[in-house]
Amino acid sequence: MTLLFDLPVLPDVPVRGETARYPVRRIFCVGRNYEAHARELGNAVDREAPIWFTKAPAALCLSGATIAYPPGTANCHYEMELVVAIGAHAFRIAPDKAMEAVFGYACGLDMTRRDLQNAAKDKGYPWDTGKDFENGAVIGTITPAATFGSPEDQRIELRQNGATKQDAGLGEMIWSIPELIADLSRMYHLAPGDLIYTGTPAGVGPVAPGDVLEGSVAGLEPVNVTIAEAE
Ligand code: MN
Repeated sequence: MTLLFDLPVLPDVPVRGETARYPVRRIFCVGRNYEAHARELGNAVDREAPIWFTKAPAALCLSGATIAYPPGTANCHYEMELVVAIGAHAFRIAPDKAMEAVFGYACGLDMTRRDLQNAAKDKGYPWDTGKDFENGAVIGTITPAATFGSPEDQRIELRQNGATKQDAGLGEMIWSIPELIADLSRMYHLAPGDLIYTGTPAGVGPVAPGDVLEGSVAGLEPVNVTIAEAE
């Protein structure tokens, strides 16, 4: 078979303690998974089901990059998140088995064109242009689950130019990691290469050219990105 043209290969992410890298197949993200963050955006908190959206692998950006302020927005926000990297096939998996599907964890930034997302929300339109854009899914080095321990015990933090903007406990998630994996596996055949951005705590805010964003979770490699002028 001959293809008309070559596409870039799917992106991959470094793994702590390994020379082999983690190839990325899909990116799932959950919205409103911390109560204080849902309230700061004016959203009611409900526990009916997690709110899912996706980003294309082409949105992935590795930690350490300098990225242009995104096009099409005047209100781009950071959202610091714990990322779960799936390492096994999981379909209709029960919460008490779901952690067996976890390969590891990383710090990530769910960059958001908040003005476009809000306009879409107001009209009941999809969030795609607000969420799925180039360099919109920043990720740090993945730490294998066995060397991290229980995520619920750790704090998640974001600093913007050295000032702490987000600081919460991972245990404050409305939907826990096994609940998220179990819910997603009702609708998708999860497989190695699938990433799950698990939602952001309160304290989101706008970024500007010149900003340095640094996110951390104790026990994981931090994530950082520098915002340059718009193209
Ligand atoms: Mn988010």
